[in-house]
Amino acid sequence: MAVKKIVQIGDGVLRQKAKPVSLKNKVAIKKLLKDLTDSLHAAPLVGIAAPQIGLGLQVFLSEIRKTKLRDAKQVDSLRVFINPKIVNYSNKQTILVEGCGSLCHASIFGPVKRPSEVEVLALDENLKPFHLKANGLLAKIIQHEYDHLQGVVILDKFTDTRKCWVRSAK
Ligand SMILES: [Zn+2]
Repeated sequence: MAVKKIVQIGDGVLRQKAKPVSLKNKVAIKKLLKDLTDSLHAAPLVGIAAPQIGLGLQVFLSEIRKTKLRDAKQVDSLRVFINPKIVNYSNKQTILVEGCGSLCHASIFGPVKRPSEVEVLALDENLKPFHLKANGLLAKIIQHEYDHLQGVVILDKFTDTRKCWVRSAK
């Protein structure tokens, strides 16, 4: 188990464009996915991108666990996206209040407007290509994590910073 520190804004790695993952070294990919998964669970977050553990590589994970506030319909098990490409966005956009593990350890939240559906092409944990059409919370997570691979964070995207709020420390 290797829980990595979640890199916080101000660190240059969050502002770089991530590079494609080389598919030659399967052992290195396995380790990277394990570190990302462990860090995702420790945080705990609904998504994590490699730059958030200090690695400028095009890979992110999503996982929507059941919580007191989240209904069972939204639950979605762990997904791996290696070298992803969002190939289609819906015209319809919706606003969701988002937080980010790299923005004060997911303690600041604010409204972000994004397309409500996306289509993504990527490789899974076995390096098998897949095509996924996503909507709801998953579509938002995919776009949020994909932004991390472009060097974009939600701070750049809040539609109205007057509507941001802070969760007090646990
Ligand atoms: Zn984030």
